[in-house]
Amino acid sequence: MGYSLPAENLLAYQFTFSKLLETIAEEVAHCLVREFYPNAEEHGEEFKEIEKSILTYLKQEKIAKLFKKELERKRTPIA
Ligand SMILES: [Zn+2]
Repeated sequence: MGYSLPAENLLAYQFTFSKLLETIAEEVAHCLVREFYPNAEEHGEEFKEIEKSILTYLKQEKIAKLFKKELERKRTPIA
């Protein structure tokens, strides 16, 4: 299972690296809430707390920091 959009779909251009991290955090949080809090609301407090925690974890990972730095470097025009 995966997620892809055809290049002609405008959403494909809005799917950036940071959106990918947010999507991963959201989907992992949904899975964990279903496992550990089966009666909780889909986007309730448990979900929000877990999602925030996962996103914080992903952003501080060395590889995520390297990608972010590289993307920022590519966006900065050479003076
Ligand atoms: Zn959701």
